[in-house]
Amino acid sequence: MSGFGLDERVALVTGGARGIGAAYVRALHESGARVVIADILDDDGAALAAELGDRAVFVHLDVTDEGQWDAAVQASVDAFGSIDVLVNNAGIANAAPIEHLTTEKWDAVIAVNLTGVFFGCRAVVPTMKAQGSGSIINISSVEGMRGSPGLHGYTAAKFGVRGLSQSLAVELGAFGIRVNSVHPGFINTQMTTRIDPAHLDIPLGRPGEPSDLAGTIVFLASDASSFTSGAEFVVDGGMIAG
Ligand code: NAD
Repeated sequence: MSGFGLDERVALVTGGARGIGAAYVRALHESGARVVIADILDDDGAALAAELGDRAVFVHLDVTDEGQWDAAVQASVDAFGSIDVLVNNAGIANAAPIEHLTTEKWDAVIAVNLTGVFFGCRAVVPTMKAQGSGSIINISSVEGMRGSPGLHGYTAAKFGVRGLSQSLAVELGAFGIRVNSVHPGFINTQMTTRIDPAHLDIPLGRPGEPSDLAGTIVFLASDASSFTSGAEFVVDGGMIAG
């Protein structure tokens, strides 16, 4: 079996300044990776990079801005010489019954949660193709596998991330680039503070914490998953199996 170690690997995590993204950053760093924390939250991102030390840098990145993507990839190459792992994690959520879902809300959630993932994949592929390897990990949701009332834009974006991951996995396998999607269930973060998990039927009996996703991300970043591409990883305490 190939190892889970990430020594010398360079990983860029969008939305890495807080929440689940920060847990990914910590786990990848703990496993030996050099990490690029990319976010619009400059203070939180810079503080996390400073805490982790010289194998971590922060770069300001609004994932909806194509030009900022080129700069972020360049910053990663400048700091650490390559980019081996991209975790497209940045996301927002909004909810409304369909007749009250404004075009602005729809556009905003599609821009961050779907177009931002497209921009990220497109930006890193030339570097990954040149080095003949790479792992792209796209964060979808259980809402990318089923419908939920009110979450129309979010669900459309997360289904889109799932489909984009599969088409990319097929196109990029010949270049040694693996692409997988991860589908978290209910995780306690700022995104979910207004939702009471008590009514959710979670077989493992508790809501998730950001650290519950860490093992899946380290696995997908590492050589332990060297034959895994185009796959969908549900991490939800068993919630949608029922
Ligand atoms: P969060 O709100 O705590 O963190 C989201 C992060 O994304 C923040 O750091 C934020 O600054 C960043 N971000 C937002 N817009 C951005 C932009 N335009 N450019 C760059 N960064 C931006 O939320 P979270 O719960 O940690 O969510 C992380 C990811 O996990 C999201 O994609 C979310 O859809 C997904 N997810 C979350 C849950 C959950 O229950 N919390 C479940 C399934 C999927």
